Amino acid sequence: MTPAELVRREIVALKAYHVPDAQGLVKLDAMENPYTLPEELRRELAAVLARVELNRYPDPGGARLRALLARKMKVPAGMEVMLGNGSDELLQMTAMALARPGAALMYPAPTFVMYSMYATFMGMKAIAMPLREDLSFDSGAFVARMKDERPALVFIAYPNNPSGILYPEGDVAAVIRAAPGLVVIDEAYHAFAQKSFMGRLGEFENLLVLRTVSKLGLAGIRLGYLAGRAEWIEQLNKVRSPYNVNVLTQAAACFLLERLDVLEDQAARIRAERERLAAELARLPRVQVFPSQANFILVRVPDADRAHAGLLARRVLVKNLNGEATRNCLRITVGTPDENRILLAALREALQ
Ligand code: PMP
Repeated sequence: MTPAELVRREIVALKAYHVPDAQGLVKLDAMENPYTLPEELRRELAAVLARVELNRYPDPGGARLRALLARKMKVPAGMEVMLGNGSDELLQMTAMALARPGAALMYPAPTFVMYSMYATFMGMKAIAMPLREDLSFDSGAFVARMKDERPALVFIAYPNNPSGILYPEGDVAAVIRAAPGLVVIDEAYHAFAQKSFMGRLGEFENLLVLRTVSKLGLAGIRLGYLAGRAEWIEQLNKVRSPYNVNVLTQAAACFLLERLDVLEDQAARIRAERERLAAELARLPRVQVFPSQANFILVRVPDADRAHAGLLARRVLVKNLNGEATRNCLRITVGTPDENRILLAALREALQ
């Protein structure tokens, strides 16, 4: 018996999420915050982490961290918060809990590739509803399709990855209102869009808001959080593995959330740099720039494979998204001013 004979067919057919080696490269492929923590904060953090009792299991529900997140992230009173090992895990848990036989998971596409992967893992029907040609959101078409497909679960990235586009709030609200099931608004890039459904949780019975600290500058600690009504969180908590958020992550997050201004200042610098970089990219001949409210910029170039290889040859790593809906597109994470200068110079050459 070979693994391929035993493993579920739909898993054998999948390609694992590929993460390229970035050693020695200007790394602009993964939407990370390019700034590290200030030296003094690092030293204080080290002292905090040194006191953590690694011999003990973590606080199973992460009560202290949940309360702190609720306060710092303006979760409305009365709403509950649940923690995940990255927001990835919370997407997976939500799908797991709702994957009744025949249940569908629907999302505007192209979007974060893990949405379709989790649907497949959980045996849900994945319904990728195409965005318009310019990657804007046709909420009317989405609502009409929901009437036919009756999805148990809808994921909407707000703003979207890989386009960076923030759909109009009214369009997203219309989808939540019309959805026959649960809607998760994935606000992974919230710090760069500064628009949120968090404050509107009370308005909808079928809404959860998903966030992560990854893009804010803490991708390495793997922490996501899901906010919503207690009735939802109570059910979703049942599929959570015990102790899914480790002690070091909980301690680091509790320490750093009390100093959130440092990370918010970095996000503000990234937002300003995004505007500068987008303007520079738009000045390059034959480059189309999609309007981004995230910490990355999607561009369409005449030949993405060639431009990507040309950038790599100049030691710059971006994400090549050359594919159906993102034909000849590259996704460029906003870096430091220095990194962005290197990127622009390399791209100018690579496009020649
Ligand atoms: N949602 C979206 C839209 C994303 O782009 C990503 C990461 N690329 C995630 C969720 C997952 O982020 P994390 O697991 O680091 O919280």
